[in-house]
Amino acid sequence: MPAPLAIGLVAHDDKKAALVDWAVAHETYLKGKALFATGTTGGRILDALPHLDLVRLKSGPLGGDQQLGAMIAEGRLDVLIFFVDPLSPQPHDVDVKALIRMATLANIPFACNPATADLIVGGRPA
Ligand code: PGA
Repeated sequence: MPAPLAIGLVAHDDKKAALVDWAVAHETYLKGKALFATGTTGGRILDALPHLDLVRLKSGPLGGDQQLGAMIAEGRLDVLIFFVDPLSPQPHDVDVKALIRMATLANIPFACNPATADLIVGGRPA
């Protein structure tokens, strides 16, 4: 049996509610996938969907973004859903850029907003 699709989930603070809403809307798709989220984002998703197979990494500003970037570098992440907040400065902006760079470099599907995340999910079997 092939390994389940590994999906990274991250949202900046003002986008966390949007990511939780997106996850709830795509619960059927996310079930059975191997989910990896930064700490706070993952906690919010698990509050809404406690049955998901989701590993909480460190909080983004404390290294969680870098953990996801390392997973991409090692070929252990297939998809990145990262709802970024373009209107707020981020103290860990260098980590955010590094994560986006790794997703781009590795050419994995990468969504930075709900519309694109919908396309990614719609384009893959549930
Ligand atoms: P968080 O990290 O889920 O721990 O808040 C997200 C981020 O990178 O800002």
